[in-house]
Amino acid sequence: MYPLTSPKYLKELLSRYGFHFSKSLGQNFLIDGNILEKIIKGATISSHDKVLEIGPGVGTLTSAIAKQGAEVVAVELDRELLPILEETLEEFPNVRVIHGDILKLDLNQLIKDNFHDGPFKVVANLPYYITTPIIMRFLEEELSYTSITVMIQKEVAQRMAAQPDSKEYGSLSVAVQFYTNPRIIGKVPAGVFMPQPKVDSMIITLEKRNKPAVEVNSSTRFFQVVKAVFAQRRKTLLNTLHAAEISDMNKSELSIKLDSLNINPQRRGETLSLEELALISNSI
Ligand code: SAM
Repeated sequence: MYPLTSPKYLKELLSRYGFHFSKSLGQNFLIDGNILEKIIKGATISSHDKVLEIGPGVGTLTSAIAKQGAEVVAVELDRELLPILEETLEEFPNVRVIHGDILKLDLNQLIKDNFHDGPFKVVANLPYYITTPIIMRFLEEELSYTSITVMIQKEVAQRMAAQPDSKEYGSLSVAVQFYTNPRIIGKVPAGVFMPQPKVDSMIITLEKRNKPAVEVNSSTRFFQVVKAVFAQRRKTLLNTLHAAEISDMNKSELSIKLDSLNINPQRRGETLSLEELALISNSI
């Protein structure tokens, strides 16, 4: 295996290929073997797994996953990295690199072609700029992933795992917890990347639930309510629901309905649990 976590080796490799880091593609390559291990452990990768990696870079995480015997499909957007990946991954017949933009690819087709619609894990050191859109795609499109283990900006990981009545709790927390069970694996300091990003990171695993965390009559309506209650965090629940016009009820009817659900209309949306949000969306 190539010593890709060695800064000296990595610099030499990149300069041999005339590669320059692209800030806009979120290129911060991992140079720490302990962090690699933490990701592999967090994702519980074994030789039975099929893994989709987003953004392999020079193949550091890819090699670590492939070494466990898992079958890896890695999607990389930057064409400049393809010849480097060919070199660094040459010893792994169990890796397939696909050139493409993960945000634009037909994921259903990709999963069908590579994993025959069977279960797979997502593992990535994600470029920060695509964190929320790509994770939301996996969650909402009901793809056959079983878990998503990613290194992302610390604050975003904290929002995903946040509990009601905390400043981090918001619509992202609800969406992530509706579909998955988030588990923070650990903090990652900026110094383990080349070049160093300006923010700290966290590794988080999102384990897919067999069914959503709460029962809702319509997920569209549920997320309308979620959007409304977190849109104006300082307003009361009654005022946000009324202003969002998602119910035919007038303000006093809404107030009576909330009381009947044992939810004080004067509460703020950010204090509501998923169960309470479901109750509201099923009743108004
Ligand atoms: N996995 C490598 C590592 O851990 O060192 C690289 C991680 S780096 C944070 C993110 C990688 O994602 C870069 O290689 C970048 O070119 C790639 N990337 C950025 N946007 C992408 C996109 N939309 N689709 C696929 N790959 C993308």
